[in-house]
Amino acid sequence: MLRRASASLWLAASLLAAAAAAEQVRYDDYKLVRVVISSLDQIEQVHSIGGMLMSDYEGIGAIDYLFPPAAMADLAALHLPYQVLNDNVQNAIDTERASLERWREVGPRDPDWFAGFKNYDQIVAKLNQMETDRPDLCTVFSIGDSFEGRPTWAIRITAPGSEKPMVLFDATHHAREWISTMTVMWIADRLVYEYDTNPTIRDILDTVEVVVIPVVNPDGYVYTWTTDRYWRKNRQAPPPGSYCYGVDLNRNYDAGWGGAGASHDPCSELYCGTAAFSTPETANYRDFVNANPRIVSGISYHSFGLLIMWPYGYMSALPPEPDRTLFAFCGETMHDEIFAVHGVSYDWGPIYSTIYPASGGNVDWCYDSHGIFEFTIELRGNDFVIPASEIIPTAEENFEAARFLMEWSAGPVRITFPQGLPEFISPVDPTSFTVRIEDGYQSVVPASATLYYSYDGAAFEAASLVHAGDTLYQATLPPAACGTTPRFFFSAQGDGGATAYRPATAPAETFTATVALVTTVLADDFENDLGWTVINDPSLTTGAWERAVPFRPASGGAPSADFDGSGKCFVTDNRPGSFDVDGGPTRLISPVLDLTGLQDPVF
Ligand SMILES: [Zn+2]
Repeated sequence: MLRRASASLWLAASLLAAAAAAEQVRYDDYKLVRVVISSLDQIEQVHSIGGMLMSDYEGIGAIDYLFPPAAMADLAALHLPYQVLNDNVQNAIDTERASLERWREVGPRDPDWFAGFKNYDQIVAKLNQMETDRPDLCTVFSIGDSFEGRPTWAIRITAPGSEKPMVLFDATHHAREWISTMTVMWIADRLVYEYDTNPTIRDILDTVEVVVIPVVNPDGYVYTWTTDRYWRKNRQAPPPGSYCYGVDLNRNYDAGWGGAGASHDPCSELYCGTAAFSTPETANYRDFVNANPRIVSGISYHSFGLLIMWPYGYMSALPPEPDRTLFAFCGETMHDEIFAVHGVSYDWGPIYSTIYPASGGNVDWCYDSHGIFEFTIELRGNDFVIPASEIIPTAEENFEAARFLMEWSAGPVRITFPQGLPEFISPVDPTSFTVRIEDGYQSVVPASATLYYSYDGAAFEAASLVHAGDTLYQATLPPAACGTTPRFFFSAQGDGGATAYRPATAPAETFTATVALVTTVLADDFENDLGWTVINDPSLTTGAWERAVPFRPASGGAPSADFDGSGKCFVTDNRPGSFDVDGGPTRLISPVLDLTGLQDPVF
């Protein structure tokens, strides 16, 4: 009877919200309470007095609930150990609202974009901005429409090249877990905008394809912004005979569906739906994963609790070997990577034993149906409402875990080029360069490291790489005839028998270089006058070229130092403030470069 009464109150709140879309559900004087649960009956008792689940999982142990103020006497009467964590959650929601207002006008390229949480439209705008800025790296697409017809946007990020292993990052299966969406947007942002300048990110995008789904549950996410900050499920219409909206998407996958840690009560926060994949959102996710067999790993982000977890959730059994060891290795490594950034320790282990049994989750389904090394990470927070100042530290530490997983997923072993690949191959001398080969999900067999090369269409010849200690190897290409087009690629084996190639699709795709003898006719760090000439049009009023140390502090986007760090360089309008070239042009002419005596010069 009590339960019925509390459910009716919720119905009234929902109807009010529907009547006035701008009206927000308020939680004045609602208490966030950590209750120590020691039996499943006690969970039922807490629900019956109106306790609303505020943890991401529910089971035996310390579970967070939200209680209306009037329910506190009922809670005391249950005689369960509990601790009030927040006496009035509405204060935190109000503080967050003020913060959202402050950062509302921040554009998708603004450095302050991550200073505040972003709504669905702002997330979509940033995805589109990334595609506009780097169409060579990004593709924005939808994996399908939500229950209410919103596209579920995703962004594919990779450098040119095909058939690479894929890594999938997703967030906000649960609508109120806003920090998860900001975290995956940070990962996407860094991959896109640091590709040109950060060799680590270049290696990642050269070797894997990354897909980010920032909002798996768009209807629920929008609803948390417009109506109810604590909404968890999707916005599916109630099943026949019920008045309760929504399905817990992370209980709706076909992996032990409807079992432990899920509910068949449509009013439960853990409602698993009428059948596995009964929601458009999980069906979209399933179809996307089924259509992309190259997905080897992924992380599904949630909040809160500082946890790194993997299969299984629906049963106590562990994945078979060698996967069991690999999951544990990755989980522990991600803990170390996260800890190294800000000293925050995330616990790790299989879902079932680390927290509680949970059935129908995407992590178990991805692993069971496709063997994907799928993890779930519970991010920072003591509440789903988390100060905006936590966004960047949370994202920073989790980027490093994601980086590790992307690198690990690149192949059974990982082949990279610490100094890059040679642009020119000498027609006279052998051309040597360094290759790094590291363990991936198998250990490197050093003797298997091989360079294959073909000059001018001949069959590929194999040359063993010379182990230079640790993870480094030396590769040597023999001299090539001028006018030929050398092609080359690399391979190395893992101790499990799998072979990694660079490029990943070799020999169908290969690296190439130009055959040339490199002759330096001019090298200039601009510390001395080597004969450059400045010619200014008479109409030039400001901004003539000059050789100087760039003015500091720089403003208006000007660099604050020269490129090579030697000190001087050629600059225009070297003075404080934001100035540019007016009138003109101003021309900078090099000294004469004497190419007489060179044969077939290319430059
Ligand atoms: Zn969650």
